[in-house]
Amino acid sequence: MRSVKTLDELHSARLSFDGTVGLVPTMGFLHEGHLSLIRRAREECDHVVVSIFVNPTQFRKNEDLSKYPRDIERDLNLIEPLADLVWMPTAEIMYPQGYQTWVEVEAVTKPLEGSMRPGHFKGVTTVVAKLFNGVQPHKAYFGQKDAQQAAVIRQMTRDLNFPIEIVVCPIVREADGLAMSSRNVYLDPEQRKAATVLFQSLNAAKELYENGERDAEKLREKMREVLASEPLAEVQYVSCADYDTLEELDVIKGKALLSMAVFFGKTRLIDNLVLG
Ligand code: AMP
Repeated sequence: MRSVKTLDELHSARLSFDGTVGLVPTMGFLHEGHLSLIRRAREECDHVVVSIFVNPTQFRKNEDLSKYPRDIERDLNLIEPLADLVWMPTAEIMYPQGYQTWVEVEAVTKPLEGSMRPGHFKGVTTVVAKLFNGVQPHKAYFGQKDAQQAAVIRQMTRDLNFPIEIVVCPIVREADGLAMSSRNVYLDPEQRKAATVLFQSLNAAKELYENGERDAEKLREKMREVLASEPLAEVQYVSCADYDTLEELDVIKGKALLSMAVFFGKTRLIDNLVLG
């Protein structure tokens, strides 16, 4: 596995690849969720490129950019058997002095994460567009864990005619149901135990749906009720939205996305589940 930093190094490594290239964008501190994306890329592509970049433009001022967990040595050991190339640009390489170009997706970035983290998706789409241009992959791999991000990237890829197939991979969970996340390390043991309530609340709503309930507010109520049973959980939002537009639903007709953001102390966790 080669590891590169600058755009020149990246371009010359990319030129040496024959056949299909799969890109897995990450912010590092890798876990099984990331590795599932990399393994899928390995199965489907001749060459696998992993990017590791903690993108400053997708963090708001009060968010955890400077504290975001990092362990590059461990990450490289995990990727080594699976990838051909790892690209680790610096913030100066991605956003040199005088940088002034941004990619913004409109409606689908507005609700849910977009409403709680204004500007977040502008940073995400800009950096992903730059990763796409740098690596020029045939396929790019994202996790369902960040459901709105996946929807936004799909929209951007269509709108800007990137000749790239977006592959969205299932959420990888811990044995007790907590969705894997680099941010789980912030949880103290008590919060970590309490955090299983996210998956429990999603499953409780899913059970109602499977028993025929189609009133979206009833499902939101059920999720709120289960979350409220955990004193350490501070709910930011709970949603039952259209799978494609992410607009809140009254009645579930087609595919729907149950999702939520919940604080445990200062740590903000998100989770989701697709219905239909
Ligand atoms: P991040 O490093 O948090 O930016 O995540 C990089 C990619 O891994 C994103 O496409 C995430 O959606 C995906 N990812 C993160 N956690 C999981 C998980 N538990 N299961 C599946 N994919 C994940």
